[in-house]
Amino acid sequence: MKREDCPHVAAVDHVQPRGDRCETCGISGSLRVCSTCGYVGCCESSRAHDTQHWRETGHPIIRSLPITDRSFTWCYACNDYLY
Ligand SMILES: [Zn+2]
Ligand SMILES: [Zn+2]
Ligand SMILES: [Zn+2]
Repeated sequence: MKREDCPHVAAVDHVQPRGDRCETCGISGSLRVCSTCGYVGCCESSRAHDTQHWRETGHPIIRSLPITDRSFTWCYACNDYLY
């Protein structure tokens, strides 16, 4: 879906990741950063601490790390990628 169609993205953008490892389990690689608070968590193919962060905090938007032109943005609340 388009970014402008997601009601959650406007309030949360351009937050810097707080680290380069999952803050919960410490692994590196396939990481996601929370766009609300900068939490760094591992992805669903690892231990899904990004998903756990969404369930615990309600922070809906994540980006894939490292942040480049090719990183993706996902909204858990909309359950869709944002372009
Ligand atoms: Zn959304
Ligand atoms: Zn983890
Ligand atoms: Zn967060």
